[in-house]
Amino acid sequence: MPHGKPAGVRCVQLDEDLRCRIFGRPERPPVCGSLPPSEDMCGDSREQAMRWLGWMEEQTAPDRQRLESAAP
Ligand code: SF4
Repeated sequence: MPHGKPAGVRCVQLDEDLRCRIFGRPERPPVCGSLPPSEDMCGDSREQAMRWLGWMEEQTAPDRQRLESAAP
């Protein structure tokens, strides 16, 4: 994804088994490797991990940052 992965959009590198097609390859974005799995992020289930990921995407979405910086 040449301009980055927008929040809420499935990565084009994710295959039908939810595995990264470019894992371990140099073209994998550095940010992906900077987010190793941890109990804080993943919890103990896929549902918990997806809730956390959704919250993080919402909190870091460019539109949200633009709106917050414009607030008085
Ligand atoms: S690790 Fe990065 S490149 Fe691979 S599927 Fe996930 S978001 Fe996409």
